[in-house]
Amino acid sequence: MSNFYSIDDKPRAECAVVGVYGHPKAAYFTYLGLYALQHRGQESSGIVSSEGDKFYKHVDMGLVADVFSNIKNLDKLKGNAAIGHNRYSTTGSTQPINAQPLVVSSKYGPLAISHNGNFVNAAELHEKLVNEGAIFQTTTDTEIVLHLIARSKKTGMIERIKEALNQINGAYSLAILTNEAMIAVKDPRSFRPLCIGSKDGAFVIASESCALDIMDAELIREVEPGEIVIFDQHGMRSEWLDEKAERKACIFEFIYFSRPDSRIFGEKVDKARRRLGKALALENPVDADRIISVPDSSNTAALGYAQESNMRFEIGLIRNHYIGRTFIHPVQSMRDFNVRIKFNPVQGILKDKRIIIVEDSIVRGTTLKLLARMIRKAGAKEIHVRVSSPPIKFPCYYGMDFPTKEELIANNMSVEQIREFLEVDSLTYLSMDGLLNSVPHENGGYCTACFSGDYPIVPNGKVEKLKLENGIVLE
Ligand code: SF4
Repeated sequence: MSNFYSIDDKPRAECAVVGVYGHPKAAYFTYLGLYALQHRGQESSGIVSSEGDKFYKHVDMGLVADVFSNIKNLDKLKGNAAIGHNRYSTTGSTQPINAQPLVVSSKYGPLAISHNGNFVNAAELHEKLVNEGAIFQTTTDTEIVLHLIARSKKTGMIERIKEALNQINGAYSLAILTNEAMIAVKDPRSFRPLCIGSKDGAFVIASESCALDIMDAELIREVEPGEIVIFDQHGMRSEWLDEKAERKACIFEFIYFSRPDSRIFGEKVDKARRRLGKALALENPVDADRIISVPDSSNTAALGYAQESNMRFEIGLIRNHYIGRTFIHPVQSMRDFNVRIKFNPVQGILKDKRIIIVEDSIVRGTTLKLLARMIRKAGAKEIHVRVSSPPIKFPCYYGMDFPTKEELIANNMSVEQIREFLEVDSLTYLSMDGLLNSVPHENGGYCTACFSGDYPIVPNGKVEKLKLENGIVLE
């Protein structure tokens, strides 16, 4: 038995991209941006900077603060332009070679890339490229873009990038660095967020706007679906990918992935998340004494629930923030250890009280079961679980690392069976209408596939089978 325990039961946020163009401290500000976006990927971190034709790179496994703990690693990243990346792998295995940004030298000059998302036709493109003689250095889907750009016969880097991306299907928010420009690209459906800012006359791009705040940069706007934004010595200009599609922004970014202090898809995450909590309270009221959250991810939704239900929000669980993603288990026989090291109940808040736990999502349900047990042991009279999203029944093909369909508890059990499994007094989820009514629609629609099975892009074979297994008729 391994003595390493995963302490999360959440879909894992995919990756973060950051870039700075036109600043003498480009790498330093990129580092700050990555630090603010640590929640989007904790496996590896890296920065590539450019001094014209000369590229500098530092990437390693670990958290941003560890990868750049030695200031010399930042000092060596010279130049006025830099892109960075935090990774949690969704395709490609966990190994240093897969850490991004990826950098290559092509016949058109050096090229670096950071990717947030997932290509759904990666396997076909990879096979085709390998059959044509390509040699891959990583096992990531991101490297495919570099091969496609390097093979393009088009004139000019932007045309080559366009030609490459027009062959790719899926979710991508990209930062690309050439010897002359920094380029930001979003796929035509805009699955993942990506924004543009300015800092002392320089341009900044980042997955979420909280990365601009830490640099004291101003938010200019978000990258549009299918837009290619080029930052070079002439300023900022836009080109467009060929494919036009309906926007399908990832709704889970509002529920869980993005930070509440970020603005994404034209809305403040905090505001949307509070609305989720309010809608949940309206749909599923229950008589209780106190509302608590599972810190930190459900704090904002719990506040919304408390506001709407006019009930007291309390800190009933304390989270230890100083543990990594895995922890060495020193005492194998200790029950519930993997939850115990992360959370501790506040007995004075819970004892003899009817408690509502607001949770943002339930994946396997294992952590929540142990938390409920812990809360019961602390003296709670009743436990009512309210979830600020619909049941997760389907995996994500667009850059979120969900467990397999079989491991998703809502795929295997009814709500009543899940309640029994969790050993709580009541359990309800937010409805799909409640979810959709809590997010803005002025700028377009959303992907809800992990709840509905309605996939905006169908990867060859896999999803068709999944839908049929779940009894959903294919269109
Ligand atoms: Fe987001 Fe779910 Fe769609 Fe994946 S399947 S992009 S997590 S809404």
